[in-house]
This record gives sequence, structure tokens and C-alpha cells, in this order.
Amino acid sequence: MALLNQIISTIKPSATLALGQKVLEMKAAGEDVIGLAGGEPNFPTPKFICDAAIQAIQAGQTKYTAVDGTPELKQAIIDKFSKDHGLACKPHNIIVGTGAKQLLYNAFMVTLNPGDEVIVPAPYWVSYPPMVQCAQGHSVFVPTSEAAGFKLRPRALSKVITKKTKWLCLNSPSNPTGAVYSVDELKALGEVLAQYPHVHVISDDIYEKLIFDGQSFATIAQVCPHLQDRVLTINGVSKAYAMTGWRIGYAAGPVGLIKAMKTLQSQSTSSANSIAQAASAAALNGDQSFLTSWVQKYQSRRDLMMRNMADIPGLKVCKPSGAFYLWVNCQGLLGKKTPAGTALETDMDVADYLLDSVKVAVMPGSAFGMGPYLRFSIAVSQENLDKAAERFRGAVARLSS
Ligand code: PLP
Repeated sequence: MALLNQIISTIKPSATLALGQKVLEMKAAGEDVIGLAGGEPNFPTPKFICDAAIQAIQAGQTKYTAVDGTPELKQAIIDKFSKDHGLACKPHNIIVGTGAKQLLYNAFMVTLNPGDEVIVPAPYWVSYPPMVQCAQGHSVFVPTSEAAGFKLRPRALSKVITKKTKWLCLNSPSNPTGAVYSVDELKALGEVLAQYPHVHVISDDIYEKLIFDGQSFATIAQVCPHLQDRVLTINGVSKAYAMTGWRIGYAAGPVGLIKAMKTLQSQSTSSANSIAQAASAAALNGDQSFLTSWVQKYQSRRDLMMRNMADIPGLKVCKPSGAFYLWVNCQGLLGKKTPAGTALETDMDVADYLLDSVKVAVMPGSAFGMGPYLRFSIAVSQENLDKAAERFRGAVARLSS
């Protein structure tokens, strides 16, 4: 009898993590590779957050905590929801987990029965479909368009809702496109959802703090109060506070759902790391002003990279409104031939060519459910972005028709 079950044999490892690993190996082998495939800030975690972790260790906060999070961190999360979005949460509406990723996984595991449907607008974050698959659910992909800013439109939503729909998965600002939903756009989706009381919403707000051009952030639980008891808001400290390695995420939702997620967590991973929880409370409670300069830096890198790439034939950057990625249409390169005579047929071929020929690692858009696109991270130094743009230019110039 085979050891592995039927589900895991259908799941592919995370494409972003796999490419990230390849870049590390190439660097270790001494290759001059520029990694733009990853999804983490290149800033260090701010000192006041690290200091809070050191203090937690010295104060002996090194034991298991409550499964759903320390009272201090839960209070910091409640205060954050109240301050930022005017949402009134109680401790039993909140759960802390080992990254937003674990909370999303747990949410699907405790809610999906075999065949239940999850609406996933495409392009999407790589991990939603495999998580749904693990929970024996079925992802229903809804393609969005460049013309619609890669955002789900109400009519497209209403077309795909069935009796089996359990969740709609929203992610704003979006990984990979950087699309940000406005209040009106969320309200319009909320009007559709008002007609389908059995459909719940996951609002993945992990890039909430990273919004450009003075735009403001809106979350569906705030904008559509009539949906509040069917929204699970997911967030975490990874992206905003440069804390990807600390592994702390949090969620706010209806009591019954949070309780079920807590039960699963209690029988799987228990509480999140006690020291990282203390650091996360400091992050949420602390002075947030450093974020302004971080966002400015991301925005100026976006603008510079867009300028640097504007005249590279065959590549078209779709201007992001948030997060730290550039979503680049590479249709214009398809059909061209590399110096070795290989035809570029897909965005995967383009990404492979860039890695092999000029040692720049980017993600193919098809990993996010939409080709032919490429996703570049701009959460790297300006110097590396400048170098990468020059390398793209050289690689594209060497292609023939
Ligand atoms: N959601 C989105 C859209 C992401 O891009 C990521 C990380 O890349 C996560 C959730 C998970 O974040 P974490 O588990 O680090 O909190």
C-alpha cells in the first residue's frame, strides 16, 4: 500500500518558495543571481520590535501560551481593528496563528466538506488553491482582466455562485497584481453577497499597510456591516513589519468559526511562538510612523522600475496600487527565439530564459493562475532593481523574431 494519501499526491510544492530555494542555492554556488521571485520585505525588523522579543525572553515568556494567542496580543489586535477600521471585536472573535498562511489553511480545513466551492478571482496568491484542495474543496477560478484592474466585478461574482459555494476569497492589496479594492467596489460585491446568505468571505488583508499614491485601504467587514457575521478577516505582521520569519498571523471572525479554528490548532500546532507574539504586540501597539517611509520607498522603486522598463519591447508593467510586486505582461515576447534557438511559448519559458541567460529570478504569472505575465518583487534594493532592469533589456535585445 502506498504511504502517501491521495490528496498530497495531487499537491505541488509552493512555486514561490521553490524558486526562492533555487536562488539561494545559486547564490551559495557563487552565481551573481538577482532574486526578484520572493515575497518578503528587504528591510530589517524594526529595533523596537526586536527589543520587545528580547525582553520577552528575559521575562521568561518562553512557554506555551493560550492556543488562540496571548491576552496582550489579542488586545493589540482588537485595538488595531477598532482604530484602523472601526470594527468592534471581542477576544472570542480573534485567533492568533503561525502566520496568516496557517490561519487560512485552518479556516478551509474546518469549513469545507468534499466538493464545497471556493471562489478564487485570478490571478491569485499561489497557496489558496492547494489549501482548498487539502480540505477537499473545489476552487472556482474567476479570471479578471487588465482592463478591470484585475479586480472581481459584481456580475462575474454573481455568475459563479452556486449552492455549493462556501467562500469568496478576496485579497486587497493583491499578491500578485497590487490591485486595491475601493469602498465602492467592495460595496458592489457586498450587494451581490447580500442575496446569497450561505456565501462567506475571506478577506486577506496581509498587504493592508502597503498602499501607494495616497489611496486608502478598505476591508469588506468594515464597508459591508451586513456581512460582518460571515467575514473572516485575515492579517499578520509578516509584510507590514518585515517579520516574515517570526511567523505570526491573526484572524477576526464569527465566534463559531474562530472556535473551530482554535480546536484544530489545539490538536495540531498549539499556540504560535510566545516570543514572536510579544514582538507582534509591540509592532501593533508601537509608533507606526516608520511605515510611511517604507511605503514611500516601495512607491519610488515602483516608479523607477516602471520608468526603467517602459522602453523594453515586449514587456508591459501593470501599475500596482499596493503590495510590493510588479505584474508584467510579457505577451510581446512570446513567439521570439532565444540565442540558443528555443522558442518562448509561455511565461514559464520567459522566466526560465531570464534566469538562465541573465540570472534574474522572477515568477511566471501562470503560477498565480494567469499568463502570460511575470511577477517581480520590488522589495529588494534599488541597486538590484537597476541591475535587473538592465539585464532584462539585454536579454530581450538578444531575442530574435
Ligand atoms: N496571503 C498572501 C496574499 C500572501 O502573499 C502571503 C505571503 O506571501 C500570506 C497570506 C501569508 O503570510 P504569512 O503566513 O507570512 O503571515
